[in-house]
Amino acid sequence: MTNEYDVVVVGVGGMGSAACAHLASRGVDVLGIERFDVPHGNGSSHGSTRIIRKAYHEHPDYVPLVERAYENWRALEAETGRDLLHVTGSVCAAPPDGDLVDGARLACEDHGLDHETMTGAALNERFPGYGVPEGYDALYQPDGGFLDCERAVSAHVERAMAEGGTVHARETVADWDADADGVTVETDRGTYRADSLVLAAGAWTADLLPDLNGAVVPERQVLGWFQPPERPEDFTTDRFPVFVTESDDGAEYYGFPRYDRPGVKVGLYHHLHEAVEPDDVAEPNRDDERALRQLLRDHFPAADGPTMGLSTCMFTNSPDMDFVVDTLPNRENVVVAAGFSGHGFKFASAVGEALADLAVDGETDLPVDGFAVDRPAIRTA
Ligand SMILES: Cc1cc2nc3c(=O)[nH]c(=O)nc-3n(C[C@H](O)[C@H](O)[C@H](O)COP(=O)(O)OP(=O)(O)OC[C@H]3O[C@@H](n4cnc5c(N)ncnc54)[C@H](O)[C@@H]3O)c2cc1C
Repeated sequence: MTNEYDVVVVGVGGMGSAACAHLASRGVDVLGIERFDVPHGNGSSHGSTRIIRKAYHEHPDYVPLVERAYENWRALEAETGRDLLHVTGSVCAAPPDGDLVDGARLACEDHGLDHETMTGAALNERFPGYGVPEGYDALYQPDGGFLDCERAVSAHVERAMAEGGTVHARETVADWDADADGVTVETDRGTYRADSLVLAAGAWTADLLPDLNGAVVPERQVLGWFQPPERPEDFTTDRFPVFVTESDDGAEYYGFPRYDRPGVKVGLYHHLHEAVEPDDVAEPNRDDERALRQLLRDHFPAADGPTMGLSTCMFTNSPDMDFVVDTLPNRENVVVAAGFSGHGFKFASAVGEALADLAVDGETDLPVDGFAVDRPAIRTA
């Protein structure tokens, strides 16, 4: 077995799988190393679906990167023959004059995106599965939808391997080192040398990069699936857009139509605000279920039916909730992708391309300048 590669990628989850695919498709001899299965349910990229949307209320600067991600997801579908991206439209709804709908409107206006604004009452009439307060402000953007996240990881890995890349599952990276000649990676199965290294370890990033301890913080999340008791046809992918809604007390929720598993899937951003050790995440419990059911009662009463499933997952939060995609200062043959803060998956197909650029050329034309590892928010965390 050869132990020398051009690039080693640590972590074959959302971002690492995409990096492997982009590297291999350029003819780079890449090895991806994943401690669990490919894909698996212990990190941040499982649970069937992830929202993709252009009405980026977080900041309009994310829109060009998400546009690139759409292109790359469609290319990956064509290359692998897998259906990954399902367009349902996306909705934001919140009490009037809040940041959520205003931010989404700003992103749409700045980037010339089709969108419609309406009252909560009009939203509920248009999409009968919705039941938000009638006085809410809402915005609908037709390009939003969701990605099938486990399939997307599999597709990137298949693409990487079809292009000559190597992926090892069930192998754990214990340590790494970099010098002017390249990098050395130690695992529980062997030692590898490469010209450069991509660290895409998600919630485990600080184990491999202690300098980022405190700047990339794993947080326990819980997803829930609830079967609408009547009229489940109001919650199908063609009648029920993905959503982000805000309650009167400022809690932000998100959710999806019925797909793959029985029930509508919902989540609460930052859930119960529990920072965790990534190897020690408590199983879902009744408090988790209650927190999610509150959303159904407030905004989707017609989906307030039996619980079909609960599943834990992790955000890895940076202090400003923006990503880290950069080479390390003083170790330019080491690239880090971390801190995706609960909104990264949609970008994976574009982040993977940026990681490949950085690993091979040390720079990228993709709009990732805002994700520098030495920006003040990260440096001082
Ligand atoms: C509940 C939930 C809902 C979300 N909803 C959305 C959404 O709707 N839209 C959206 O865009 N984003 C969403 N996100 C965020 C998104 O899923 C994450 O930002 C993204 O999955 C992060 O990908 P990653 O590659 O950083 O992490 P992961 O996919 O977890 O990959 C990291 C990988 O590194 C591996 N690894 C770690 N250490 C080692 C080691 N030492 N050796 C070998 N392998 C190692 C891990 O096993 C893991 O597979 C959500 C996240 C959660 C948890």
